[in-house]
Formats: sequence, C-alpha cells, structure tokens
Amino acid sequence: MRKNAAEIKIIKSPAALQKFSKKMQAQGKSIGLVPTMGALHKGHASLIEMSTKSNDITIVSIFVNPAQFGANEDFAIYPRRLKADVKLCATAGANIIFAPEPQAMYPLPLQTFVRNPSIEHLYCGKYRPTHFAGVLSVVAKLFNISLPSKAYFGEKDFQQLHLIKKMVHDLNFPVKIIGTKTIREKSGLAMSSRNEYMTQKEREAASSIYAGMITAKKTGKSLAELKTIIQKKIQQAGGKIQYIEIANKSDLMPAKTTKNSVILLACYFGKTRLIDHLEL
Ligand code: AMP
Repeated sequence: MRKNAAEIKIIKSPAALQKFSKKMQAQGKSIGLVPTMGALHKGHASLIEMSTKSNDITIVSIFVNPAQFGANEDFAIYPRRLKADVKLCATAGANIIFAPEPQAMYPLPLQTFVRNPSIEHLYCGKYRPTHFAGVLSVVAKLFNISLPSKAYFGEKDFQQLHLIKKMVHDLNFPVKIIGTKTIREKSGLAMSSRNEYMTQKEREAASSIYAGMITAKKTGKSLAELKTIIQKKIQQAGGKIQYIEIANKSDLMPAKTTKNSVILLACYFGKTRLIDHLEL
C-alpha cells in the first residue's frame, strides 16, 4: 500500500534490524526482503510492489556493497541518493529501509565467504572474478539480518539470481526466492542504476542490445549465428562486446542447442558496462 516517505522507517544498524525482524516473526508477520544498491528505478519498484502484495512487512536494503566491486570498478562513483530512494520505496509500499554503512556490515574484513565456483570462470565471473562471492556473501548476511520468508531478485541479473537460488538450496536458507521479469525502457534498454553514467547518445545506441537479441531469437538458427547477429548489431551502434554466450537455463553451463537456453551478454557503451539476457 502506498505510503508517505515519513511512514518509512530507516534502520542503519544490522543488530537493530535483526531485533525488529525477530519481533515481527514472533508476531507471526511475514517479511519480504528486496536487496538493492539504491539509485532506485522502476525495475526496483516492481520488486518492492511484488513484495508488499504478499508480505506483511517489506524491507528494502540499500547497500552499495564494497565486497562485490573489483579494484578498478565503479564503487566510488556508484550513484547514492537515499532521499529519492525513500520516496520510491514509500510509493511502492515498503515499510523499512535498511541502509547500513560499510563499517556496520563489515566492522572487520570479511574472512568467511559464500562462493560457487561453477561459473566463476564463465560469463561475468571471467571478468569480475570476485564479484559473485561478494554478492552471495552479502546476500547471506542480509538474510540472517532481515529474516525474510521471501526475497525478491530481478532476472535482470540472471547469473546472480541463479547463484542465489542455488545458495539457498545448497545451504538450506529458510527463504523463498522470487525471480521477477526485467523492466525495460521503451527503447528496450534494461533499466539499471548504471544507465545514468551514459550520455543520451550512448543510451539510445544501447537499445541495440535488446534489439539485437530479439532479432537473433527470431532469425538466428545456430548458436554461432545468434551470437554473430547480436555482435554485429551492438558493434554497428558503437558498443564494445565483452562477452556474448548462450547457456542452459537450468545450470548456466554453456548450451549445446538453443532449447531451454538463455543468451547472456555484457558490453560497453562508452565507459558504461551493461549486462543483459534473453531466454530462448
Ligand atoms: P541493484 O540495485 O542493481 O543491485 O538491483 C537490485 C535488484 O533489482 C536486483 O535483484 C536486480 O536484479 C533488480 N533489478 C535491477 N534492475 C532491474 C530491472 N530493470 N528490472 C527488474 N529488476 C531489476
């Protein structure tokens, strides 16, 4: 239910949130968690709305997690705007924003990580070797702090969603993972907080990513042909490909046929690294 920004409670301490969540659990209230890095947009709003529809309490975490950024990545410049984020969360019906400082999440350097080596050498893992261990570890912490019965993640980050589902299954986390569809601009560009790094021209050119994938899905016959169609479309628009691969939807291993598979890609427009996917 839509709220005013003043009705949202901002909690900064992990211990305080855990205490709150335990109290809610004791009262029999269901908790939905939506983990984010902030600079929220309509894609995030769709996750929050989904959570508010089926949980008594929706917690949105806003944390630019240093553990998931590589040394030369955009941690320092990642957009941070809590005030606007509070408004969006209120409109989408959230109850709590958990916005800890890095010091509160990592009072000492993390020594215990959750890792899944299966795709660490593939796709995004190949170019961001420590990224997914950083993601899985922070999500495990967020689950233990927020005690959700359901947690919401976008298919936008397809590899991340796969790894989180596998972590929950492998380690028996008592939480149901709900994956949600990617929200796109009219142009087809997947909404992302990182889109704001791009100039208007780059943003327009970046619509070639989705257009390329759609054309490939419609007209491509072999895996190689599909990749070539996308590659050409992105390169013609001025983008630089980091990888285009096709994986099995079930285990994300390299696909042998297009059946039950998914296109995964990363590319640059200007200095902005974008990821996208399309199920075949
Ligand atoms: P982020 O703040 O980018 O870490 O994203 C937080 C959550 O929102 C993740 O589960 C993302 O997959 C999801 N998300 C980001 N962009 C979109 C989008 N365009 N549509 C749907 N979900 C999204």
